[in-house]
Amino acid sequence: MVSKTPDHTTATEIPEEISGLRMTRQRQEIYRILIEHRDHPTANEVFMRAKDRLPNLSLATVYNCLEALVQHGIIRQVNFERESSRYCPNLREHGHFHDAATGVIHDVDFKPGFNLADILDLPPGFVVDDIEITLRGKLSNIAP
Ligand SMILES: [Zn+2]
Repeated sequence: MVSKTPDHTTATEIPEEISGLRMTRQRQEIYRILIEHRDHPTANEVFMRAKDRLPNLSLATVYNCLEALVQHGIIRQVNFERESSRYCPNLREHGHFHDAATGVIHDVDFKPGFNLADILDLPPGFVVDDIEITLRGKLSNIAP
């Protein structure tokens, strides 16, 4: 259940190939957009951000690039209820905190050693391949 794909999110230079996927200029720019601002944008938001860098870009191309990146395990597609899919470059297992006041979606890491079996009564034979945890709430103003 832990992804074996290396996490490239700290790389400043995007390699020409990741996980067997040739990183075309368009794929590189779209990946860079996801890394630079990790707010889980929709395809449309990625398109809006990419237009300046790639003037000939179409929304269909953005969808194709995102799909290729997802299929090669380079980014994750996340779905919140019936909203448009969003995209996340964080490959570590993590949950999402949906700030109801601002709509911002934050990554939330699991604590080290966290084991689902400690909180879920999984019947025998249930093998977990993937976890999606979405928390909803708001950020309170706690003084630092
Ligand atoms: Zn995320």
